[in-house]
Amino acid sequence: MLDNLNKFTCLKRGTAGAINIDPLQRGGVLTPEAREAVLEWADGYSVCDFCTGAMNKIENPPIKDFVHQALPEFLEVDQVRITHGAREGMFAAMHALCEKGETVVADGNAHYTTLLAAELAGLKVELTPASEKPDYRVDPQGYKEAIERAKGRGEKVGMAVLTYPDGNYGNLVDAKAVSEICHREDVHLMLNGAYSVGRMPVGARCLGADLIVGSGHKSMASSGPIGVLGATEELGTKIFRRSKLVPNKELEMLGCTLRGAGILTMMASFPHVVERTKCWDEEVEKARWFANEMEKLGMTLQGDRPHNHDLMFFKSEVLYEISQTAKKGRYFLYRELKKRKIFGIKPGLTRQFKLSTYLLAREELETVLAAFEEIVATHPKA
Ligand SMILES: *Cc1c(COP(=O)(O)O)cnc(C)c1O
Repeated sequence: MLDNLNKFTCLKRGTAGAINIDPLQRGGVLTPEAREAVLEWADGYSVCDFCTGAMNKIENPPIKDFVHQALPEFLEVDQVRITHGAREGMFAAMHALCEKGETVVADGNAHYTTLLAAELAGLKVELTPASEKPDYRVDPQGYKEAIERAKGRGEKVGMAVLTYPDGNYGNLVDAKAVSEICHREDVHLMLNGAYSVGRMPVGARCLGADLIVGSGHKSMASSGPIGVLGATEELGTKIFRRSKLVPNKELEMLGCTLRGAGILTMMASFPHVVERTKCWDEEVEKARWFANEMEKLGMTLQGDRPHNHDLMFFKSEVLYEISQTAKKGRYFLYRELKKRKIFGIKPGLTRQFKLSTYLLAREELETVLAAFEEIVATHPKA
């Protein structure tokens, strides 16, 4: 292997000029400013030019103002730190605030990384139920019951997590109702905003959350891995405590998190991110229009109706039937879309798939709809 390393150096992505409908990727597309920042700050440890011991105190580039003023205002929290992603933020909060053996209560649509964060922090997980297809709805009351179940077994509930929205159906639960229930039970609530922070208006304070995490590469037009973790003053003081051995370093952050271009891309995109959250209503309206058009073609939207997010999960018996006799079998859909320069539905999926309309122009979405229409019309069904 080591005598032929050329394949590692010529790395082309091959998606230029394509329409990308992958929910994971729509909100992470860089702004031109962030793209420029990547080149300028690409060298390793580039943010450390003027560091005096703490990344969040660096004044040039203005990381200090970003972390201590702009982000707290944006997230409606007292304290913020940059993490490597939403999962690392969830882990840091759970690890710092819960004792081993305690229980984390999370919604039935929670992302797998919530479970991993809890497991790694030595915590048990109690899930609230989500309803059956096609709604997959999480009832805030489920939190009360899950907390009571855990307490009934003699466990201490260390924290509750609400996935807002969840990463499968794009469902938005009434977070205020959940936070009120949790606080009545004396449990702190963490909002997992991987799919909301940077896309739509979300404020921890107005939703009653004590903690909030976001994902830079998913929803804040950043080159990851990068995320944000926000906390109330009280919880932030615990999470961002100093090391005993190295007193000027924050222990839970292992001293410092982002050390290169990622944080610069998040800052460079931030003015655009703030503006785009103000246009969220248009994004929701566009998503609803798109879903309606897809349903005319025989697909069915799962989750909240009307839908409140650009992440949408469709079931499609018609494409599944086509796949039964299509030349490439279940890969036909991927190939047909690729031919039309549309990417983002995973190869092999036909019967159900996720997509996102976020920040795509109506004309681009019309191209996507026309592609689906043509694919359905030109293939025989089994
Ligand atoms: C993508 C996603 C995550 C993980 O985000 P990272 O920043 O990659 O850790 C967590 N939760 C939800 C709901 C997600 O969709």
